[in-house]
Amino acid sequence: MKETDDLYTRAEASDRHVLNFKATRLWFAALALVFVNYGLLANVLGWTFYWQPAGDSAATTVVTALSISFLALAFFFKRSGLQIQLSYALSFAGLGLAISTRALELFPDNAGWALQGKMGWNTLAVIVLLSLSGLIRRRYYNVAAVGVLVSMIFIFNSMIGQSFGLRLLGGEMSFATTWALLLLTFATATLFTGFKQTRAFFLNSEIGQATRSMALVSIVAPLACGLLLHQVLKETDQKLPIEAHLISIIIWAGILNAMRAGNRLEKADALRRAAEERLERIAMHDPLTGCLNRAGLEQAQSCMAAEAGTDVNWATAVIDLDHFKSINDTYGHRMGDRVLQEVRPALSRVMRPDERITRWGGEEFVLCLRYNDLKVLEMRVEEMRLALARIPERLQTAGKLAPRRVTASVGVCLYEARQGFAETLAKADEALFAAKKTGRDRVVFLKDIAHGPAASRPCQHTIHPAQEPATSEMQQRDIWLTDMKIASHRD
Ligand code: GH3
Ligand code: MG
Ligand code: MG
Repeated sequence: MKETDDLYTRAEASDRHVLNFKATRLWFAALALVFVNYGLLANVLGWTFYWQPAGDSAATTVVTALSISFLALAFFFKRSGLQIQLSYALSFAGLGLAISTRALELFPDNAGWALQGKMGWNTLAVIVLLSLSGLIRRRYYNVAAVGVLVSMIFIFNSMIGQSFGLRLLGGEMSFATTWALLLLTFATATLFTGFKQTRAFFLNSEIGQATRSMALVSIVAPLACGLLLHQVLKETDQKLPIEAHLISIIIWAGILNAMRAGNRLEKADALRRAAEERLERIAMHDPLTGCLNRAGLEQAQSCMAAEAGTDVNWATAVIDLDHFKSINDTYGHRMGDRVLQEVRPALSRVMRPDERITRWGGEEFVLCLRYNDLKVLEMRVEEMRLALARIPERLQTAGKLAPRRVTASVGVCLYEARQGFAETLAKADEALFAAKKTGRDRVVFLKDIAHGPAASRPCQHTIHPAQEPATSEMQQRDIWLTDMKIASHRD
């Protein structure tokens, strides 16, 4: 269960799955400005809206228009330090204006046309919630997010009231104010895409789309029914505020259900993604050594092909451990496995981060190496051969049993775009064969093989280990085996 949670949290940490609202937020805020000031104009000029309950006297007052305008403008000042302060100042101004005029009754009821009507308690509540949410967002993210949700409850209630022709507790919100505040709430809500409970709503995926459409249907269906009943069919019998609250509960049940379903789907999807990543890792790697397998090498190879022709050069090295069968025969398979497991750690010290090591099969490894300078590449491959020769030492240092000797033969071929990877590998194998033929425990570059009858002799440029003169294959193996037997007696 803990692992499941960890995976989910990790998936959450990345924001690439969430919609980017930077531009949309400004559109919401701009439209809120337009709506609320249009409402004020309509109030002053005495216009009425089509979608307005009969006998409804709710109108947008100057104070409401100013408070909402301040909050909407705050969204346009979000960039530099000074602008952030300005946006805070605007939020405070909106908040202060709303509270002082309504809660503290600073202006009398009959203060003239500009102040005609009083800000409804619903309106005040939403303005307070939105401005506080914006102000405390950085410190109390979750509390602020809940504040936005609560302000939505007020707005939906007001919309239900308008759809069903109901008079609500706390006074009505005018049509223009409702829409301005709805848009302002949307704009504020987009600041909380990381809120866990509503995260599914903002996802940039099929799941996000499904959640949004489920929530939208939950909101629009009841409101549309009310509109049909009371505005189109002129059904005005029912006038109880309790209905609005019951419908509100239906709406919220739908929204919360959508959110819950979305969050669950997203959690399942995050787990699926993590499982896929894990499977891909398993499919591309060899379990014993942790190196890439052949499928993994195909990826590395496509990266070499992509870079061919640029100033990056690639080379392929084939490494084959010498007389490995004898290690198994003398010390047992477990010792053989242990040696194989040491290959990657031994080589990785010399390898660069973007270079790849593949277990081609058995005790054979294929490396994709970058180089700029051929001399440096030769030195690095030689260093790798020496690192492999130190495997027994490494095992002993780690307190494990070790074979007396581990050596490797290496064949290297430089990659050229025109010959392709398969051919490069075949040529590196050819160089490896030459290394085996000429006494093992050495590196041979393909370019250094003298073709023709002398092919079996290591050529001048081949990098040699400090080695005994080349002996016959059988003699060599015997010397090697004797060494190991002495070692096994000691163990
Ligand atoms: P050469 O120097 O010519 O390469 O001789 P070699 O003995 O290394 O080569 P050969 O191909 O004759 O033998 C390879 C051996 O590697 C045979 C096989 O038992 C062993 N081997 C292959 N895969 C594994 C493995 O996963 N674990 C162990 N312990 N041994 C393995
Ligand atoms: Mg071998
Ligand atoms: Mg082999």
